[in-house]
Amino acid sequence: MNEHQTLDLRSPWVISIHELVRRPGELKEFRREIPAPAGVSVELVGVLEGSPIDVDLRLESVSEGVLATGTLSAEFVGECSRCLGAVREDRDFDLQELYYYPGHDAEEDALFVVDEHIDLDPPMRDAIVLELPFSPLCREDCLGLCPVCGFNLNDDPDHDHGEQIDPRWAGLQSFQSEDASEKS
Ligand SMILES: [Zn+2]
Ligand SMILES: [Zn+2]
Repeated sequence: MNEHQTLDLRSPWVISIHELVRRPGELKEFRREIPAPAGVSVELVGVLEGSPIDVDLRLESVSEGVLATGTLSAEFVGECSRCLGAVREDRDFDLQELYYYPGHDAEEDALFVVDEHIDLDPPMRDAIVLELPFSPLCREDCLGLCPVCGFNLNDDPDHDHGEQIDPRWAGLQSFQSEDASEKS
């Protein structure tokens, strides 16, 4: 992004900061429920498009621009990495972003104040996507699936197939038991 970026004023994530522009020290509380755009997700979990994200920010006018700090609360849904069951979790995500005034010498990926507006979409995505679990679990102690038949072990922790020895290990098994009997 560069300072000549244009903002899509139709996006609910683009907000006016008119009263903060060039008034260092000025503060504004911003609280709004905004529908999630598409693509706020990682491989197995994500925030459903259109589902509400609670935005609770403090917008502060500083000399180089406008600083946004606060939290986003959102529900993410997806698939358990162990049992493939449903994952559904509410979580808070921290957001902090400094929007520079045009003309400010800022880093390559810096965001700017454009026509008295700022776009909360990019930092919202960063805040949420970087925190989403890559190995989500339906619950902390999910037992996963039976490696033999794929049965969901959460449904019956006692599930088993009796003594089953992989033929590739059978030889080793008998060797080990001989070894054990020699010692006794
Ligand atoms: Zn699970
Ligand atoms: Zn099984």
